[in-house]
Amino acid sequence: MAHRGILVDVTKCIGCGSCVEACQKSNEQPAHEAKGFNEQTYTFLMDRGNDTYVRRLCMHCENPSCASVCPVGALRKTAAGPVTYDPDKCMGCRYCMMACPFGVPTYEWHSAAPRVRKCQMCAHRGAAGPACAEACPTGATITGERDELLAEARRRVASDPKAYFQRVYGVTEAGGTGVLFIGPREPAALGLPPVKTVGPLPDLTWNALKHIPDVVLFGGVFLGGLFWLTKRKEDVARAEHADKGEHHG
Ligand code: SF4
Ligand code: SF4
Ligand code: SF4
Repeated sequence: MAHRGILVDVTKCIGCGSCVEACQKSNEQPAHEAKGFNEQTYTFLMDRGNDTYVRRLCMHCENPSCASVCPVGALRKTAAGPVTYDPDKCMGCRYCMMACPFGVPTYEWHSAAPRVRKCQMCAHRGAAGPACAEACPTGATITGERDELLAEARRRVASDPKAYFQRVYGVTEAGGTGVLFIGPREPAALGLPPVKTVGPLPDLTWNALKHIPDVVLFGGVFLGGLFWLTKRKEDVARAEHADKGEHHG
């Protein structure tokens, strides 16, 4: 089904930071320097040398493992394309942070009512779409139907083999992502995570979970439940301590 995606063409990026600034405004965050993912930074620029700048943001995976491991459905791939997060459902187990192969979700560790934080493709803007794409002055970040963006990415790469490394990042990574990258060098040289998979990751994730001893899973879910009810870290710390005493004593 047709749904929204984002195409980042690194060859067109001048490193102006308008995307980062627009992201912070769109998400009502105070203006700040963006150096890596954190609770107030959903996108940032990497300076890869030779006037090459590469954005990072949530990849909005076609079959997101963050959503797959979430026991309460707080994260989900919407039909419109964005992978969104509902803080009212979240119980704070943070499995999503462990499951994401791109290292994207972060957590409000110092908040009394902590939430997972990441780009939601500006779902709150509705048809207006991602603020970063609207702000980009060069067309390095554009948005549209994911299928059409993929066709455009392939067309650009094929039409200029000197300018583009011959690959679209996001076709096979994690079984396909809603955010696609093309650029002058291979993805690893651009600083993009080497997530080499041909099928969707959630199945792999669940296979991996099968090998985790039941007591660990039970402990995690139990403690997550406590967290959900109280939203207070002190209680979790106390419960964790008691739990450890029980198992190690
Ligand atoms: S990049 Fe990570 S947080 Fe974003 S949709 Fe994929 S698995 Fe989820
Ligand atoms: S889509 Fe919105 S939240 Fe995501 S990086 Fe762009 S501006 Fe930020
Ligand atoms: S706004 Fe566009 S050109 Fe400027 S840093 Fe972001 S992607 Fe690059």
